[in-house]
Amino acid sequence: MELKIIGGTVVTAEKSFRADVGIEDGKITRIATSLADQPGETIDATGQYILPGGIDVHTHFELPFGGTVSPDDFFTGTVAAACGGTTTVLDFAVQSKGQGLKEGLESWQEKARDKAVIDYGFHMAITDFNRQVVDDMEAMMESGVTSFKLFMAYKNIFMVDDETLFRSFLKAKELGGLVMVHAENGGLIDLLTNKLLAEGKTQPMYHALSRPPELEEEATSRAIILARLAEAPLYVVHLSYRGAMRRVKKARANQQPVLAETCPHYLMLSIENYSEPDFAGAKYVMSPPLRGKHNQAYLWKNLAEGHLQVVSSDHCSFNLKGQKDLGRDDFSRIPNGVPGVETRLFILYSEGVRHKKITLERLVDVWATSPAKIFGLYPQKGVIAEGSDADLVIFNPNKKFVLQSAKLHQNVDYCPYEGLEVKGAISRVLSRGKVIVKENSFSGRRGAGQFLRRLKFKPRLESTGVIA
Ligand SMILES: [Zn+2]
Repeated sequence: MELKIIGGTVVTAEKSFRADVGIEDGKITRIATSLADQPGETIDATGQYILPGGIDVHTHFELPFGGTVSPDDFFTGTVAAACGGTTTVLDFAVQSKGQGLKEGLESWQEKARDKAVIDYGFHMAITDFNRQVVDDMEAMMESGVTSFKLFMAYKNIFMVDDETLFRSFLKAKELGGLVMVHAENGGLIDLLTNKLLAEGKTQPMYHALSRPPELEEEATSRAIILARLAEAPLYVVHLSYRGAMRRVKKARANQQPVLAETCPHYLMLSIENYSEPDFAGAKYVMSPPLRGKHNQAYLWKNLAEGHLQVVSSDHCSFNLKGQKDLGRDDFSRIPNGVPGVETRLFILYSEGVRHKKITLERLVDVWATSPAKIFGLYPQKGVIAEGSDADLVIFNPNKKFVLQSAKLHQNVDYCPYEGLEVKGAISRVLSRGKVIVKENSFSGRRGAGQFLRRLKFKPRLESTGVIA
C-alpha cells in the first residue's frame, strides 16, 4: 500500500478501537489490527486518535454583505479549514434577485475553482422565487446541489415570505432536496432595529436586543409547521436558543423529519460579550446573536442526546478594522458574521469531550458523520471505513494549543476565542490520502479540492440515527 497510519486509535460515530489504516489511490483500503509489516510509507500515530476529516456544512467564503465582502476566499478559507481538521466544506451559493439559480451557482463555482484546497460543495440560497426558480431547482439537483437555503430574516436583502418558503418545501419534497432555514422573524427585527436606532441606541449590544430569542422561536415554529403541511423535511441552521430547541425536539418526537445544527459560538459565548469595551462587542455581531449564558448547557445537552445533529462553523469573517467598524455609529451596519472554520474541532474536543459534555464518538458524529449523511456525502465522506475517501485527522489529545489570531490561518484580524488554551492539537490532516497539514503548517496545493456532486436527501428513521 502507498501509506499506512499505525499505532493510533480509530474513532467513528459508534466506537473507538485500536487499528492501523492503509491507504491507496486516495481511499482507505484496509483497516486492520496491524499493518506494520506491510510495505509503504508509514505515519506513526501511537497515542493519538484517528478521526474522519471534518465536514463543515455552513461556510460563507467571499460573501458580499453590507457593502463589503468577507475576506476569507476559497483559498484562505479552505486552508484555514484544513488546518482545523476540516476536509470538506459546503458553502452557500446565493441567487441574485431577478436572476435564476444557475447564475448564482456558476458565480460560486467560479469563486471556488482553482482555489479550494479541500473538497467542496454548495447549497443554493433562494432569495427570489421567480418563474425560473422551479426549473432551476431541478437543474441544481442534477448538478449535485441537493439542498436549498431560505432566509426568514434579513428583510429587503435575503428574506423570503411564507408563500415562497412553502413553495420551496413543496418543490424540494418532490425532487428529494432538503430545505435549510435561517429562522428569525425578519419583519419584526427590522421594526425593532429602527425603533432602537431612533432612540439613539447604536452600540453592538443593541444588535442582540433588536433580535430577541422569541423571534427565533417563532420563526422556527413557523418553519416546522409549514414543513409539516408540505410534508417536507426541514433543516434548521445555526440554532441558538432553547425555546427554538424545544420546538425542534417536539417535532422530532412526533416523527417529523426536522434536523438542526448549532455552532461553536453559541456553545461558548454569550450576550455579555457585546458589552466588551471599545467597540470590541462588534466581533460577535452575527445572526442569530449570542444568547443568555444559560442556553449553553442546554445546547450541549441536546447535542449529547442527539436532538441536535450537527455543529457547523457558520464561518463568515469580517475584519474589525475596515469592515466591522462600518457600524461604529449604527449596529445595523456592522457586517454580520464570525470566523470559526479553523477552530471547530478544538472547541468540540477541549470544551466538549474533555469537559465531559459529549463523548468522543458523539464529537465524530456531529463533526463529520451526520453532516455527511444528511447532505448526501455518505459513505464517501464522514466515516473511517474501507472504500471511503482517505480524509483523516491525526489528533494528539494531550498536546496543548492556544487559540490566537496570529497563529491561525483564517484571513481576518481577530479570533473570537483569543487566548483560550485548548487541550488537543492536530498532528496531520490527510485529504484523499495526501498529507496537507503537518503540525499547524499547510502543505497542500491550491486548487486541489474537488467539487462534490451530492446525493439526494433520504431521511432514514432509525438505521442512521439522523432522525432518532
Ligand atoms: Zn450562515
